[in-house]
Amino acid sequence: MDLMVDRAISIIDLDPGIADAIKACNSVLQMRFPVKIKGKLEIFTGWRAVHSTHRLPAKGGIRFATGVNQDEVEALAALMTFKCAIVDVPFGGSKGGLIIDPNKYDRDEMQQITRRFTLELVRKGFLNPATNVPAPDMGTGQREMAWMADTYKHLHPEDINYSACVTGKPVHHGGIRGRTEATGRGVQYALREYFRHPDDVRAANLEGGLGGKRIVVQGLGNVGYHAAKFLSEDDGCKITAIIERDGALINEDGLPVEDVYRYIVENKTIKGFPGTSFVDDGAKVLEMDCDILIPAALEAQIHEGNADRIQARLIAEAANGPVTYGADQKLQQRGVVILPDAYVNAGGVTVSYFEWIRNISHIRFGRMQRRQDELRGHQITAMLEEHTGVHVDEKLKQNLTRGADELDLVRSGLDDTMRMAFQEMRDLRMNDEKVDSYRTAAYVIAIKKIATSYIDIGVY
Ligand code: GLU
Repeated sequence: MDLMVDRAISIIDLDPGIADAIKACNSVLQMRFPVKIKGKLEIFTGWRAVHSTHRLPAKGGIRFATGVNQDEVEALAALMTFKCAIVDVPFGGSKGGLIIDPNKYDRDEMQQITRRFTLELVRKGFLNPATNVPAPDMGTGQREMAWMADTYKHLHPEDINYSACVTGKPVHHGGIRGRTEATGRGVQYALREYFRHPDDVRAANLEGGLGGKRIVVQGLGNVGYHAAKFLSEDDGCKITAIIERDGALINEDGLPVEDVYRYIVENKTIKGFPGTSFVDDGAKVLEMDCDILIPAALEAQIHEGNADRIQARLIAEAANGPVTYGADQKLQQRGVVILPDAYVNAGGVTVSYFEWIRNISHIRFGRMQRRQDELRGHQITAMLEEHTGVHVDEKLKQNLTRGADELDLVRSGLDDTMRMAFQEMRDLRMNDEKVDSYRTAAYVIAIKKIATSYIDIGVY
């Protein structure tokens, strides 16, 4: 990512001091703590990195995985800074990680470990509604966020904004509707927006709209599952392959995403899913002919070793960092279009922002105006009927008189965010010949915004 950022910096002609300030990771906390598991003490290691604090709180997920390390956490914290800037979420960037295989522990043990980890974060000032707000990431979800929020609340009952200390919480614990599927929904909205611009579509050697496009998805976790589900159910796309850890399923007519997902949840594997061909070598399936490839699993899946064989015309990076710098260059030379992670998967943090606002304002979105909107709708239809003498059809009446609820507002806010960010990247590409990809455009936009805020407050 450093090389990608450097490339953008060289285009902007930024003061080297400011460039260094933007690139540097602000602070990183390493923790080692013991937890008694089945009568024996186990030592756990974790990190929380804060990349930038030009806006507060610093924001970003916490991942529970065996491969977590400090370099990865710092790089992902930097990516959060750029992500927030691209989608205009007024937060700094942060990321956390704990070395753990969550499958090895039962629910109670996971709770104990998560609460202990949270205690360390809170005590060291790395978890707080005003300064540092974690969220789910790989290996964590609503359950862990509820434990973290509860631990913080016990330590700081006097903090009126305690529930804003993490996002991605269950709805009945201060979460917001639409957060769980937000990243996948954002991927869908990003692709929809891309396909609204025929010139951009042609640049990827594609034609027509999103409907009917053949899509290969890598990783049916929270992000991949929701993206694949929405794109197949709402947009008429065909999910022609799903790649998982233990192999891949292929069906040129389109896979039933919901059924495959349920099968994985029940059987912990995709092997044996009925009615489709199974391939052991999942990595090979990344190279399958398709219109859109959505890597939604780990980092560095598309690298210099396989980049030349990738046949997709468009890659939507739903995971963080799935394409290496070398692969990015090779793909670009071959005319493969990449929608970058910092934009494509920013739906999660965007809805986290909405959740945080909901928490600090202590009210559900739509609570005050929903019935008012409904009433106005009734009045307008009644007036229309009276003046024209035409009876408004019941279905239309229902739509006109329905006040927006929280989920409607979250979706509308997310859709608007994804559209605006794409248009900003697109405009820059069209108006600056040095900006030769959406990725460079995304970084140039983000770095400009961050630099402006550094210069405005005089920190350089
Ligand atoms: N973990 C997600 C990401 O990488 C969400 C971060 C957040 O909501 O703060 O973008």
